[in-house]
Amino acid sequence: MAAPQRVRDLPEDVDTDDCMTSYTHIYSPDLLKDQVAFITGGGTGIGLRIAEVLMRHGCDTVIASRNLEKLTEAAKKLMAATGRRCLPLTIDVRQPQTISAAVDETLKELGRIDILINNAAGNFLCPAISLSFNAFKTVLEIDTMGTFNTSKVVYEKWFKDHGGAIVNISATLGYRGQALQVHAGSAKAANDAMTKHLAVEWGPSGVRVNTLAPGPISGTEGFHRLGGNIADSMGAFSSIPLQRAGNKTEMAHSVLFLASRASSYVTGHIMVADGGSWLTSANDVSMLLGIASSQSAKL
Ligand code: NAP
Repeated sequence: MAAPQRVRDLPEDVDTDDCMTSYTHIYSPDLLKDQVAFITGGGTGIGLRIAEVLMRHGCDTVIASRNLEKLTEAAKKLMAATGRRCLPLTIDVRQPQTISAAVDETLKELGRIDILINNAAGNFLCPAISLSFNAFKTVLEIDTMGTFNTSKVVYEKWFKDHGGAIVNISATLGYRGQALQVHAGSAKAANDAMTKHLAVEWGPSGVRVNTLAPGPISGTEGFHRLGGNIADSMGAFSSIPLQRAGNKTEMAHSVLFLASRASSYVTGHIMVADGGSWLTSANDVSMLLGIASSQSAKL
């Protein structure tokens, strides 16, 4: 297991899909006491760290995605590290009936849902001209329709009568039309609009809907696939105002704010947590094409 890392004001994190061996609370450890969070894509990367940090604040979780073996292993680690319950459930966010069954199972086993984190996504670098019609459609189906499907099922089955908090995990790709990302940028832009639409329609039922838009986050598949390590070694992060990539725990802390009563009067908000990256980073097609081809050479 990799050693925990705490540098200056950064929270602890580990680069792998393991739990942290130490953790320093910023918020009250019982901020989410006895609440339940349903986290799509909660078995890996940012989603796993979100699950861990919510659990370290007293919450039980469901982590839901396609690969049950991976989820079961993650759930064991999460329960051992936090002492809270974690239920691993199989869903494909493109198939509403799988979500419906998982939400029924959650309510049967854990009795409630307070928080929904729409984190599941698929991504890769690809120039628009090489992107197949099917690849574009698949990313929209997972990222955008998956977010709608899961939000609608949880709302119908629980939130409409009990309220709750939805946090969507977005990205800043669409803000400046990031090269090689027309699929994910378009999908996340639709989700950002969906955040506002659902905040307006579901606010009267006591449902807050917000979004976190991370920048480049170390220790994730996304970071690896999108060339983060190469970009780091090329000094690309020196152009980010905060001069570094973010870590997964930093994303989890932002989610904790949006999911908890710390943000009780916030809804319809897109919170960017990227160290200022989108404001200043290069949007250089040829550099990104170089990263994309060196990534595909390794696959
Ligand atoms: P990741 O580890 O690849 O997480 C994606 C998760 O989504 C996986 O656990 C995967 O699990 C699940 N998933 C994929 N397709 C699914 C489907 N059809 N149904 C259900 N679950 C599905 O990636 P990550 O880098 O941590 O990214 C997490 C979120 O942060 C994403 O929304 C991403 O767009 C966003 N983000 C990441 C970065 C970054 O630097 N990493 C930057 C900006 C935004 P299964 O394979 O088991 O289904």
